[in-house]
Amino acid sequence: MSGPNTSFDPKQVSALNAESVQAVVSEALAAIANCADLAALKDARLAHAGDRSPLALANREIGALPPAAKAEAGKRMGLARQEIKAALDAREALLLEARDAQVLTEEAVDVTLPTYERPVGGRHPLTTLMERICDVFIAMGYDIAEGPEVEAEWINFDALNLPPDHPARTMQDTFYIESADSGVVLRTQTSPIQIRAMLDREVPIYVVAPGRVFRTDELDATHTPVFHQVEGLAVDIGITMADLKGTLDHFAQEMFGAGIRTRLRPSYFPFTEPSAEVDLQCFVCRGQSIGNPERPCRTCGSEGWIEWGGCGMVNPRVLRAVGIDPEIYRGFAFGMGIERTLMFRNGVTDMRDMVEGDVRFTRAFGLEA
Ligand SMILES: [Zn+2]
Repeated sequence: MSGPNTSFDPKQVSALNAESVQAVVSEALAAIANCADLAALKDARLAHAGDRSPLALANREIGALPPAAKAEAGKRMGLARQEIKAALDAREALLLEARDAQVLTEEAVDVTLPTYERPVGGRHPLTTLMERICDVFIAMGYDIAEGPEVEAEWINFDALNLPPDHPARTMQDTFYIESADSGVVLRTQTSPIQIRAMLDREVPIYVVAPGRVFRTDELDATHTPVFHQVEGLAVDIGITMADLKGTLDHFAQEMFGAGIRTRLRPSYFPFTEPSAEVDLQCFVCRGQSIGNPERPCRTCGSEGWIEWGGCGMVNPRVLRAVGIDPEIYRGFAFGMGIERTLMFRNGVTDMRDMVEGDVRFTRAFGLEA
């Protein structure tokens, strides 16, 4: 007779009997039902379905059972594990749904609440001033003309009656593209737009041409290598210097106030003949500061006039260069620096403020979209 089956000890495997398993399952189901949130459920899953759970530990004892008992115990354990897993999954689904609902409520955004103000930004005062100037001329029936910033040397200089030996053409003033004999420059003035307008359009011509121009200047309080000009051109039959003067006076009054006058002083430009400097009557003191030390004027330096730009009657040689007969047609032209206009119009003392892009400078002009 064989000895007792020492591998089977009912004490050691009491965890596998139906009552014990049912107790373990009941305890697990109660714990799962008590889980209030997903974190608690995670702990419960570890405690009741993990590798060290009572059920997993009991399961290890199946190997100690006699073969006949193994199948029944295995089936019981499988059912118990299924029951606990189903309870865990059901509870998890419930808790997830509750959490989502809570997130929806707690993280809802009230779009009616006030928010921080964000400035929308605006255009640069040079741009708005240029547009204001163009509006004055559009109201008089002028067209806006534009041209390239990289310009043919012939249009920038020769056609404007600046011969090759003219000092303005030297490397000291002009940015040449590639080399000095490339024939291509960054335009040094807006006057080449006049040439293009006269080449492209039929007379009569009335155009105003704002634009960016380039010269080899160092950036300081009164110079910048990139700046803006606005230029006007009229070519028609019977144009006289009186038309030029009347146009400038109207322009001055639209920009600086009713009654403001302009003054012409003889000057020289290659592309106009005769030529004149345009002075603007001081729009602050209107000349009252002249010889009056009691009331000095900072805007005009108590001179009563402010240098504004240049003008003249279009040189017949320029008209001929673009194929317009100077015996029939005459024209006038004028040009102003936009930066300079902004400086004395708005009391800007340092040109660098205009080019550095600091929004604190721009903001003072109001942010126009
Ligand atoms: Zn003044």
